Amino acid sequence: MSTLDFEITLSERPALAADREAVLADPGWGQHFTDHMVTIRYAAGKGWYDARLEPYGPIPMDPASQVFHYSQELFEGLKAYRQADGTIVTFRPYANAARMNRSARRMAMPEIPEQLFVDALELLVRTDRDWVPTKEGFSLYLRPFMFATTRALGVNQPADEFLFVVIASPSGNYYARGIRPVSVWLSRDYTRAAPGGTGEAKTGGNYAASFAGQAQAVEHGCDQVVWLDAVEHRWVEEVGSMNLMFVYGSGEDGPGRGPRLLTPALTGTLLPGITRDSMLKLAPDLGIPVEEGKISVDEWQAGCASGEITEVFGCGTAAVISPVGQVKGADREWSIGDGEPGEISMRLREELIGIQYGARPDPYGWVH
Ligand code: PMP
Repeated sequence: MSTLDFEITLSERPALAADREAVLADPGWGQHFTDHMVTIRYAAGKGWYDARLEPYGPIPMDPASQVFHYSQELFEGLKAYRQADGTIVTFRPYANAARMNRSARRMAMPEIPEQLFVDALELLVRTDRDWVPTKEGFSLYLRPFMFATTRALGVNQPADEFLFVVIASPSGNYYARGIRPVSVWLSRDYTRAAPGGTGEAKTGGNYAASFAGQAQAVEHGCDQVVWLDAVEHRWVEEVGSMNLMFVYGSGEDGPGRGPRLLTPALTGTLLPGITRDSMLKLAPDLGIPVEEGKISVDEWQAGCASGEITEVFGCGTAAVISPVGQVKGADREWSIGDGEPGEISMRLREELIGIQYGARPDPYGWVH
């Protein structure tokens, strides 16, 4: 049952089927959008109201809207997948709803009822279902977001009006040219998040603050930036917009010698990734124990040198799993493995993708 009735206005100019198919053949990432969007308004004292499905298009905004000045914004990201039998599913949408509400509490923004969040996604995906690609490894990326529309410049006056929006963008196979381990840059000049800050909230400002660090990684010939803790610049936190996983042992060294996974614990400065959380549940069921802990740059380098660390990968919705092959910093550089994607990384990736695309059973109830 929906928590609000949506007023539906269908586009009078949806994309022509031939144009849509041309986009779906090679959508890239985040460049094309479907025919519709969902918008829902919020006002203090009134709650959520005015839920609409309408043609995708510009949103008229007052220049004094608080979001333009103080970045009171948050967003989410998840995908709709077309399974082999044609069924369209999303992956763990209630987990995204819960994370959006955790972000909202940190950003002094209103929480949205989880069911209303999922209803909004379902309505958009159902209306624009022809935009869910059929090609293997392709998906429809869903981007829910919310921002302060209150017309006021006073920083001491909390915003009391917000707009929640969902848009959708077809996305291609992240690894169209095969899986290639990425190189990463250890950022010491920039940090993504500090204790007490907004690192665990999915808010735009964290990303705006990360662009300079990412640009520096590229200047050093690396694909992505590794974020270290803000206090000591010693503990490894995240890579780009992914959580990190370290594989110890290979399973060929005898019982009790691995493989096992270590991932940095959620200290408040990391984004609690839904892929990360899925790995924490999936890996033990495949006989790979997982520990949430701490790893320093020195331990990472030494572990690779001794052969104890056999694989490292980033995980997130966009790429699922992205193996890390090369690490560079101002004073050091080392490689992980032999430059090929590791066996454990690939096995976990296959399992998760199998559940998302329906090739494997879903004992966790993750597909929706
Ligand atoms: N860390 C950051 C900083 C991110 O932006 C993302 C992407 N949302 C992740 C980790 C991975 O999260 P998820 O698995 O939910 O996509």
